[in-house]
Amino acid sequence: MSDDYREVTDDPETEDTTDLTEGHRDASRTEDAGKGNSKDYEDVCFICRRPESKAGRMFHLPNNICVCDDCMHKTMDTVSQFDYQGLLGGQDPQNMFPGQDGMPRFSFINLANLQGDGGIPNKQKLKKKKKDGEAEPVIDIKNIPAPHKIKASLDQYVVGQEHAKKVMSVAVYNHYKRVATGTMDEIEIEKSNMLMIGPTGCGKTYLVRTLARLLDVPLAIADATSLTEAGYIGDDIESVISKLLAAADNDVERAEQGIVFIDEIDKIAKKQNTNSRDVSGESVQQGMLKLLEGAEVEVPVGASSKGAMVPLATVNTRNILFICGGAFPDLDKIVKERLNKASSIGFESQLKDAYDKEKNILDHVKVEDIRKFGMIPEFIGRLPIIFTLQHLTKEMMVKILTEPKNAILKQYQKLLELDEVRLEFTDGALSAIADKALEQDTGARALRSIIEEFMLDIMYEIPKDDNIGTVTITEDYILGKGGPVITMRGSDTPLLEDGKQGAES
Ligand code: ADP
Repeated sequence: MSDDYREVTDDPETEDTTDLTEGHRDASRTEDAGKGNSKDYEDVCFICRRPESKAGRMFHLPNNICVCDDCMHKTMDTVSQFDYQGLLGGQDPQNMFPGQDGMPRFSFINLANLQGDGGIPNKQKLKKKKKDGEAEPVIDIKNIPAPHKIKASLDQYVVGQEHAKKVMSVAVYNHYKRVATGTMDEIEIEKSNMLMIGPTGCGKTYLVRTLARLLDVPLAIADATSLTEAGYIGDDIESVISKLLAAADNDVERAEQGIVFIDEIDKIAKKQNTNSRDVSGESVQQGMLKLLEGAEVEVPVGASSKGAMVPLATVNTRNILFICGGAFPDLDKIVKERLNKASSIGFESQLKDAYDKEKNILDHVKVEDIRKFGMIPEFIGRLPIIFTLQHLTKEMMVKILTEPKNAILKQYQKLLELDEVRLEFTDGALSAIADKALEQDTGARALRSIIEEFMLDIMYEIPKDDNIGTVTITEDYILGKGGPVITMRGSDTPLLEDGKQGAES
């Protein structure tokens, strides 16, 4: 090592680190030097990984290795503290093999020491977050309550979607019962993987999220559109398990009882009429088969790519609950076509367009319709529980605003309560917000953006005046025809009707 050092420091080229035309650099630099844009690259220390701009002067060792000044000095210090005496037998330099087992007492340099302290960042370690008291899960998966109790817990958060909540409660009940008891001796209970079909913003993700929170199991949410067959650009299918492991704080056992939600599953339908290789459609479905059923998957811990130099963990997906969700546009047409065809044949035939006006046509969906949509039979076969969610109606929108435990209006009311201001909404205002949201056709997702828009002024203006007691949001304010009604503290009559001084709109 000391020879290397001498050789390097004696090398006049190392003094001038900006001289990049010499062929004494790594491959990429040398290549770029030829093109004349060598300034775009800088050397990185082989030990601490800091670039030249941060670490300062670099020593260039053979094989295109660069080491920064700090690390080089640390290396030299470690080498100089090396216990030659111990190696040579302590007191008796003549005795080369003094140990009781006849081996010389020498130790190797620990490279980790070189990376550790001294202001050099150590990227392999992350500071752990402190846990503030282990919260008790609402539903204990080891002693899973009856389905109606699971549904009752969901009811506190999710408005409507009664059928979906019922189906999910039963499925989750069966699944965790199966997990808790281990596989039954003779009858192997099948996995309760689910497929949810419903328009955007109707609460698919929200249902799964709520369920995972109530059960206190890790949840990974992935988007099927970003998945591709292994080896192609995009996330490899197994990356969803990697996400789950991360959600479980790298606890493999916890991850193996978790839930994986794959959204936009309809986007990986088989592409019709394509000649090119379908790396993000049918191949992804094929690739997911093993995961859905149960397989041992090797996933990198703390990274999404196996190429990274990180340890691998083996996760068994047998007890992981997979829930897939998608809007399946135009699936209703497929269902309608099938129903109309069936009903127009035979004695009891109806009019050809008998189902054209049916509102919840997706309730009649069958596996064959989904297959026609482009999902392969093996894939649908592994999602035995298929159910649909309803379009949100105006009444449901109003309820979503006010009823759930964490309803958005309750959140604003709580916020203003901290300023000792009461926030109220008239029925007309709620109805107007729901109407506006329905116009956007993005489900309940529109609600938040609408509310945020008009609450901005309120949240900005109200804290200015300490005397404000109550703010009432009216229909006119939502429709842009007037201001909120503001009542001062200690008085029952509203002082400002147009909001010009109190809350500028
Ligand atoms: P998607 O069906 O597209 O996955 P999300 O579940 O993400 O829609 O819904 C968006 C937001 O709308 C959720 O975060 C939730 O706050 C609200 N939301 C949607 N449906 C409901 C519902 N049935 N009950 C309560 N809130 C809902």
